[in-house]
Amino acid sequence: MSNVHELNYLKEKIQELKDQGVYRKLPVFDGANEAIINLNGATVINLSSNNYLGFANHPRLKEAAIKAIEKYGVGAGAVRTIVGNMDIHEELERLLAEFKREEAVMLFQSGFNCNAGAIQAIADKGDLIISDELNHASIIDGVKLSKADKAVFKHSNMDDLERILKEKRKQYSNVLIITDGVFSMDGDLAKLPEIVELAELYSCMTYVDDAHGSGVLGESGRGTVDHFGLHGRIDFSIGTLSKALGSIGGYVAGSKTMKEWLSHRGRPILFSTALPPASVGALIEAVNLLMETTEYTDRLWDNANYFKEKLGKLGFNTGHSETPITPVIIGDEARTVAFSGKLLENGVFGSAIVFPTVPKGTGRIRCMVTAGHTKEQLDQAVDAFKKVGQEMGII
Ligand SMILES: *Cc1c(COP(=O)(O)O)cnc(C)c1O
Repeated sequence: MSNVHELNYLKEKIQELKDQGVYRKLPVFDGANEAIINLNGATVINLSSNNYLGFANHPRLKEAAIKAIEKYGVGAGAVRTIVGNMDIHEELERLLAEFKREEAVMLFQSGFNCNAGAIQAIADKGDLIISDELNHASIIDGVKLSKADKAVFKHSNMDDLERILKEKRKQYSNVLIITDGVFSMDGDLAKLPEIVELAELYSCMTYVDDAHGSGVLGESGRGTVDHFGLHGRIDFSIGTLSKALGSIGGYVAGSKTMKEWLSHRGRPILFSTALPPASVGALIEAVNLLMETTEYTDRLWDNANYFKEKLGKLGFNTGHSETPITPVIIGDEARTVAFSGKLLENGVFGSAIVFPTVPKGTGRIRCMVTAGHTKEQLDQAVDAFKKVGQEMGII
């Protein structure tokens, strides 16, 4: 009898993770994802969620979700191309298109699956994809699934992007430039106006993944494209419904042609069940709420600016973020992990992000401030940073 079922090859790899000090257990909490959570049994200030606007546990969204469950049940029952396409899916798409100021929106089941499905559908053999080196993992996977050739430009480096365009543009029929709108580890924005200029100069299409810009940047959270006033000049504008919008889902906003094509060739549309009614109901309410008021986005930015300024005054290096993502750069990997552990002992949950997620020697605590935090909670968090920073000789 072979011992194949013992999965020894995986056990060996797991031991390697332990030897490298990167093995971890998943943290567990037992309530809604709020500013204060009960994590692994302790009450802590949560500085790690993507629940930017506090929508994940918003009473109006919950009520809408419950209503949708009562009418539509808990599952869509099929893929959209067969019999999973409910009127609320169509309504959410129409609303999102209005919100995003684009012709049409095609929904996906998550931001990840949107990139995995959309890129391969729009870039084929004989085409070229040019991607920023710091693009999200789901873009990297989406690009791998495409039969197009690939090139990578240095992060936000327009000279490098133009070098690739000069060298390669002529050899391909279609060229697609892909970038994150907001880079999630540093909080910096893509140089979208310059990317669009270059794209138009060299007749290329543009694809912007705005997962961290959706509900955060632009007028009432319309995103990075709105922030830069580039409507009509970005061909594929991707958003997530899982972060600021509070539930789950992803989408491409753009032209009617985009939607027509993806509804035939976006593989997750054809081969994965449509979003559940509860999420769709909640998301319709989320978009309505954003179109009604800037209260949530205003509070998010106010809190983020408040927190960043206080940490900066204490002498922490908060990098070059232009968004509520606030990295506190510690440097050394082990020290970053230790810093995060001590923060937790002091009642603050800030995740340590280290190599290989970010370059060696740039370990950081990535703080995600939300509209749901009170100033008192942020003050308490700053006090914990001060205490740990002094203890460890960082400030
Ligand atoms: C979070 C994220 C995604 C994935 O979105 P989900 O809806 O959580 O699957 C995709 N792209 C970027 C840039 C992200 O930050």
